[in-house]
Amino acid sequence: SVARVYQDACEKRPQEYWDYEQCVTIDWGKISNYEVIKKIGRGKYSEVFKGKSVLNDIPCVIKVLKPVKMKKIYRELKVLTNLTGGPNIIGLLDIVQDPGSKIPALIFEEVKNVDFRTLYPTFTLSDMQFYFTQLLTALDYCHSMGIMHRDVKPQNVMIDPNERKLRLIDWGLAEFYHPGVDYNIRVASRYHKGPELLVSLNQYDYSLDLWAVGCMIAAIIFKKEPFFKGSTNADQLVKIAKVLGTQELFYYLKNYGLDLPAEYNDIMKNYERKPWSYFVNDKTPLAVDELVDLIDHLLRYDHQERLTAKEAMNHKFFKKDFS
Ligand code: ATP
Repeated sequence: SVARVYQDACEKRPQEYWDYEQCVTIDWGKISNYEVIKKIGRGKYSEVFKGKSVLNDIPCVIKVLKPVKMKKIYRELKVLTNLTGGPNIIGLLDIVQDPGSKIPALIFEEVKNVDFRTLYPTFTLSDMQFYFTQLLTALDYCHSMGIMHRDVKPQNVMIDPNERKLRLIDWGLAEFYHPGVDYNIRVASRYHKGPELLVSLNQYDYSLDLWAVGCMIAAIIFKKEPFFKGSTNADQLVKIAKVLGTQELFYYLKNYGLDLPAEYNDIMKNYERKPWSYFVNDKTPLAVDELVDLIDHLLRYDHQERLTAKEAMNHKFFKKDFS
């Protein structure tokens, strides 16, 4: 299957734009321009430090990549150089290289992020409108640029509530979209993996990112973090089926000519679809009809049925005045 929007976003641009395997020219900055202050994080693919530019004392974040395949490094660099400067996309300030190991480090603008476990429980409906508009703006922009993020999750959405600033970070799994191409299904982190990944549907597209947005919103409004909490990848689809229904899953598979992978034989049971009202109670004040309707149109098995980022931004939830 093919994306409903931005199908030719890469093809209409020059090969240098998307071909990270053959067209890599990196404009290296000087590592001596930056100073490490302290370690702030460690991911699967990097170590991340708070730092500053010694030229102007401006704070920054230094992401030192771990030695992985050069192809993956080039992809992250190509994606970031294409997207930096776009709305709510983390700003890439410089790319430097350790002279010994030759390993690249990426220099980013710093976001004074408040951890989502602390921040999200404070959100009002108008905060939800504001921050999810910001996130959808970032996604609509990257999709319009022919790029799928493929790892949308709270840990990759930096929010500074004092400045009301949101930035989408971690473009390490992002990939260029080309219609008809088979993509690796081993992307995203478990709780935010779309059904297409879990049933090995390789021809997915930008709509994968909208599933993850649906998971984030559902977790916040139903006070259930994460909303789908699988203990393994296979169990992840079981957790989804317990909400969206097993018959509905089979209907999706049939539509795309797929069978349920054998690993589900022993664990997938016949679950009834639960109405969203099942998750609403007096402790879920954010679960208003408009917001429930929004997640209902994002959390669809069929990736082609999900709202696009732009459609989601135009949903009635964002038009209502909750203040
Ligand atoms: P993972 O394996 O978790 O996907 P990664 O190795 O790809 O991580 P990032 O996700 O880019 O690395 O960064 C790791 C962590 O560092 C982030 O979750 C965040 O807490 C922090 N971080 C990264 N960039 C910034 C930034 N610009 N401002 C503030 N904090 C940041």
